[in-house]
Amino acid sequence: MSNGESVERLDFIRQIVTEDCASGKWDGRVVTRFPPEPNGYLHIGHAKSICLNFGIAAEFGGRCHLRFDDTNPTKEEEEYVESIQNNVRWLGWDWGEHLYFGSDYFEPMYQWAVQLIKAGKAYVCDLTAEQTRQYRGTLTQPGRESPYRHRTVEENLDLFERMRAGEFPDGSRTLRAKIDMAHPNLNMRDPVMYRILHASHHRTGDAWCIYPMYDWAHGLEDSIESITHSICTLEFENHRPLYDWFLDQLGVYHPQQIEFARLNLTYTVMSKRKLLRLVQDGHVNGWDDPRMPTISGMRRRGYSPAAIREFCRVIGVNKFNSTVDFQLLEHCLRQDLNKTSPRVMAVLRPLKVVIDNYPDGQVEYMNAINNPEEESAGTRQAPFSKVLYIEQEDFMEDPPKKFFRMAPGREVRLRYAYFVTCTEVIKDADGNIIELHCTYDPATRGGDAPDGRKVKATLHWVSAAHALDAEVRLYDHLFTQANPEDVEEGQDFTAHLNPNSLEALTGCKVEPSLRDAEPLSRYQFERLGYFCVDPDSSSRRMIFNRTVTLRDTWAKEQQKQNS
Ligand code: ATP
Ligand code: MG
Repeated sequence: MSNGESVERLDFIRQIVTEDCASGKWDGRVVTRFPPEPNGYLHIGHAKSICLNFGIAAEFGGRCHLRFDDTNPTKEEEEYVESIQNNVRWLGWDWGEHLYFGSDYFEPMYQWAVQLIKAGKAYVCDLTAEQTRQYRGTLTQPGRESPYRHRTVEENLDLFERMRAGEFPDGSRTLRAKIDMAHPNLNMRDPVMYRILHASHHRTGDAWCIYPMYDWAHGLEDSIESITHSICTLEFENHRPLYDWFLDQLGVYHPQQIEFARLNLTYTVMSKRKLLRLVQDGHVNGWDDPRMPTISGMRRRGYSPAAIREFCRVIGVNKFNSTVDFQLLEHCLRQDLNKTSPRVMAVLRPLKVVIDNYPDGQVEYMNAINNPEEESAGTRQAPFSKVLYIEQEDFMEDPPKKFFRMAPGREVRLRYAYFVTCTEVIKDADGNIIELHCTYDPATRGGDAPDGRKVKATLHWVSAAHALDAEVRLYDHLFTQANPEDVEEGQDFTAHLNPNSLEALTGCKVEPSLRDAEPLSRYQFERLGYFCVDPDSSSRRMIFNRTVTLRDTWAKEQQKQNS
């Protein structure tokens, strides 16, 4: 896998598009589409498809349509239509005026079905769903012809019209393509084109009680919109003969379907059906829970659009299904956040520190660098005073050899401030450490000793009198297994849910510059990771989500492998 530094090569789809542009196959046009079914929120897998389709359109001077493939009335909702548009826009893509709905094409689709009936290529079938399945045969056995296969054109036209008119109950009849019940590809064994479903549709209301099947609808949608390259995931490879058959029989404009491998990620489930289950069963707090692999969840967690786009570029596009290591996603995230996130100081588990020789009531403003990676980000003034908080885990009363942080009698640096030495440990009746006393060296202001003496640790801190209270939510993977689908008999993916995927901390202390932090703005809390202001946060109740820790396990792995 490329780590982003190797030489760029065109992926196989971009190669096809390049060749088509050179040969003039589509008169130089490049028209792609992203065709979600609005039956859930988009996830990181969709981002791969979005970046591919919109990316190709942008690179080749073409356009990409956002098309809702809303042909299934029972699972689709307006809420999903809205969230999908917001997500695509947030990722940085723009469909301009090219927003389409498959349901807007129901009438021409119906007329094309009538055309196929007239040509003797489609028939109304009265087999039940179960019978249809039995008649279809298997991979090793040919199917059997439906007893209704040889109805006359007139009878088929009459019955199909009456299906549309609502004369028949759900499931009593279908319209099927008349292809070949012995075809080696099961998709070609007289596939169903229409089913009867008396259900209200989110856009067409009760206008229809017959709804087109995906394979019938999708090619027609592409054809109507003059798509050039209809890019989809590998599961549709053996649907391509049917895609081609429908368009060839009708003699209409015929895009090229191209399949690529879908994204799978470790520790993640990606199907909307499973994500819906997590939401409905209350395993997460909604579609935008920061633990969800949805675009909305990742946004709330603190992912940047640039990081997701870079991830999609780095993983590339190919024809082989594989599973990408979650650490690679986090690597791309860290790379971007490192460049773009202002640094601040925050203490998650505060331990009070009193500097005995610091003047009572004095406040000094320490010059703190906002982003060492970005000089133009400038500096800010962090207030320092006699009573501070440091991180509980930055102190040990009886430290082992490799612990270099604060300990009795040891001098350490408080970032941007002074060298301090711990002189006394105060405990409660149960023996818990509740307060430290220190002395400071006034000559080390700014964090350096004029005599050149060194300390082995630099700690972050906040001034107790100035700090703001905050809640901080720490996250871990939603699943404990790299492959959550790998389950014992009788279990499903929820068996591997991680009971510790959320740890909510209260009583955290953050520096006062965060007072007016905007919802969804991103920061690096020094030494603790990247954090994002939760949308529910307010100046009265500040809430931060930890996006990711600082330690780039992916980069470390790569270094090890390369050395
Ligand atoms: P899901 O199984 O999650 O419901 P889907 O394929 O049914 O996914 P659609 O709304 O039909 O969801 O998908 C819209 C587009 O996104 C399709 O072109 C589909 O191929 C693509 N897509 C969906 N999941 C992935 C994935 N994991 N990786 C890449 N592309 C994907
Ligand atoms: Mg689907």
